Amino acid sequence: MNKIGHYISGKQEFGEDSSIDLFNPNNGEKIGIVSCANKTIIEKTINSSNKAFNEWKEFSISKRASVLFEYKVLLEKNIDRIAELIRNDLGKVKNDAIGEIRRGIENVEYACGISEILKGEYTKNVSSSVDSWSEFEPLGVILGVTPFNFPTMVPLWMFPLALAAGNSFILKPSEKDPMSSMFIAELFNQTAAPKGLLNVINGDGSTVQNLVKNSKIKAISFVGSTPVAKQIFENSAKFGKRCQALGGAKNHALVLEDANIDYATDQLISAAYGSSGQRCMALSVAMVSKKVKENFLKTLTKKVQNLKVNYNGGDSNSFGPLVSLDHQRKVLSNINLAEKEGCKIIVDGRNMIDGKNSKTGYFVGATIIDNVDLSMQSYQNEIFGPVLQIIEINDMQEAIKIINDNNFGNGCCIFTSDGRKARSFSEKVDIGMVGINIPLPVPSSSHSFGGWKNSLFGDLNIYGPDGLRFYTQRKTITQRWPEKQRTGSKINLSMPNNLN
Ligand code: NAD
Repeated sequence: MNKIGHYISGKQEFGEDSSIDLFNPNNGEKIGIVSCANKTIIEKTINSSNKAFNEWKEFSISKRASVLFEYKVLLEKNIDRIAELIRNDLGKVKNDAIGEIRRGIENVEYACGISEILKGEYTKNVSSSVDSWSEFEPLGVILGVTPFNFPTMVPLWMFPLALAAGNSFILKPSEKDPMSSMFIAELFNQTAAPKGLLNVINGDGSTVQNLVKNSKIKAISFVGSTPVAKQIFENSAKFGKRCQALGGAKNHALVLEDANIDYATDQLISAAYGSSGQRCMALSVAMVSKKVKENFLKTLTKKVQNLKVNYNGGDSNSFGPLVSLDHQRKVLSNINLAEKEGCKIIVDGRNMIDGKNSKTGYFVGATIIDNVDLSMQSYQNEIFGPVLQIIEINDMQEAIKIINDNNFGNGCCIFTSDGRKARSFSEKVDIGMVGINIPLPVPSSSHSFGGWKNSLFGDLNIYGPDGLRFYTQRKTITQRWPEKQRTGSKINLSMPNNLN
């Protein structure tokens, strides 16, 4: 049985308070045991990370960049192996897993440009013969806590940039699927970076709580569900550390009467059912103009019925199981609840797994739920499965109100051929990431990612320019070099101003 320990100073170590069984979601077979770090392991890891930080912060920017270039090559070379590991414990189909890794690698590429993006700010003569500049210095040991649904991309949102900025990093991957996260950390340890610069601690919520308390951890990047994000943000404030905590989502798409229905349905399906709907940017609600709803639903239903589930290959028309039995139960219970609340299940994924019930594996087929009302609990919940909920709307104003009244504010999207309407929509929605004819508006690595409302706690978004600010602290230096023989200098107790 594969026992998954912790990755400290370049080697796997064991030491646990408890352990968690790991299953292959494709067939329900037990494939490993994840060790939940005990206090000794936590201390050992933090000491290793601290030591590596003190060494690494002295590396020149070019040397840091060369490590990241080396790492990018290693990730590219091992892409199939990483995808296989993602498939083993999360169940993503191959093409989807490769897509996740590629989006992750974009963040390594951004971090490779550290010599350009870490430039400071300089002003000559802010006062007479006085110059001032700001430098961006690393914080120390950073903790990253990541969710199950992107076991490589989300860690890669965090540690390449944190390391490029001069910090060391401890990753705490999801206990549901840590295999690929461990492997990308092992690959990093094949570079010329000091051992211990990137360590991995495995465990559950209590492991994270022990880490958050530790005074040697200076900042926390968290991505996961909203209740946990909020709790980690509050605890970080209590222990006086910097935190960005990204939470859950309920992303709405708006299909206006002037949209190209064929295009809109293709895009919506990709974003609603890709990764079995287990994406924080998945489109889970489609609001459709009354005038085109009938045609829209007819086209959508036909296409959704052709999706393949439980498909072992890497077909772009297929999706795999949900991550766990618990998660499968949660998704199924939300479909049952929607039915009880009076919704119409147009396509029912409860019984549609290659035409037969699935006895093993955590599958749920693609589901479409119509007649959704905003007061329903099944609408309020983040279902996080292959389920698309349909709401009929009269006009764009009604759709904007629905989006703005929702507690989440991660992403949304509009399908239209009217640029003016699209512009007005993007201006009026209270949402962090907006797509115009783009269903998954996940910003590229040179922009930053983050939602509003209950989808993000903290001031700075993750990766990109905000990420760099998050992983650095500003130091501002003001200098004057007085002439040796300078005369006329005298004591002056009034607040100095720069007009002199
Ligand atoms: P989760 O909140 O259960 O777990 C995320 C991480 O937090 C895991 O590493 C877990 O071990 C840890 N954790 C769990 N309970 C904890 C506790 N009480 N205290 C401290 N740490 C704890 O989330 P999940 O089920 O792994 O992931 C799915 C969720 O993540 C969804 O809500 C999804 O929307 C969200 N998500 C958000 C984004 C984003 O960018 N906003 C991206 C991906 C996923």
